[in-house]
Amino acid sequence: MPEVNTGDAGAPERHEGGCVCGLLRYTVHGEPTRITVCHCTWCQRRTGSAFGVAAVFASDRHQLRGPYRTYRHRSDESRRWLDLAFCPNCGTNVGFTLEWVPGIFAVDAGTFDDPSWINADDHPFRYIYLSSAQTWSKPPDGSECHARHFRV
Ligand SMILES: [Zn+2]
Ligand SMILES: [Zn+2]
Repeated sequence: MPEVNTGDAGAPERHEGGCVCGLLRYTVHGEPTRITVCHCTWCQRRTGSAFGVAAVFASDRHQLRGPYRTYRHRSDESRRWLDLAFCPNCGTNVGFTLEWVPGIFAVDAGTFDDPSWINADDHPFRYIYLSSAQTWSKPPDGSECHARHFRV
């Protein structure tokens, strides 16, 4: 008989992730409140890519394990802070917290062990700061798109 994992009835789904060297790990419980795909120039630089993908969780549904450091960035526009959490050994940025939106932890979605559990059918995706998106990075047709942030 193949082994069937029936899961933990009633317990929220949990997902694990971490940095590339394995020193810094995290667990999230339940579903993200939203997925934000941010094309601002700052996310392009902090990720070294075309955009940042943040899966947003309530802080009490996210636990970091292992040593980590934070880097505080202040927005040029709003002067509000944003703390990047990263592994002190390999430098992977596993997420961030924001002065603007207290009580959440935004997980950098590519750091999940298996990021494929996130998908646009089950989770609300927002594509933001498309005013600074690169021509070689376009959201899928039909996406919720904003030239800047969805809050402004
Ligand atoms: Zn690491
Ligand atoms: Zn951004």
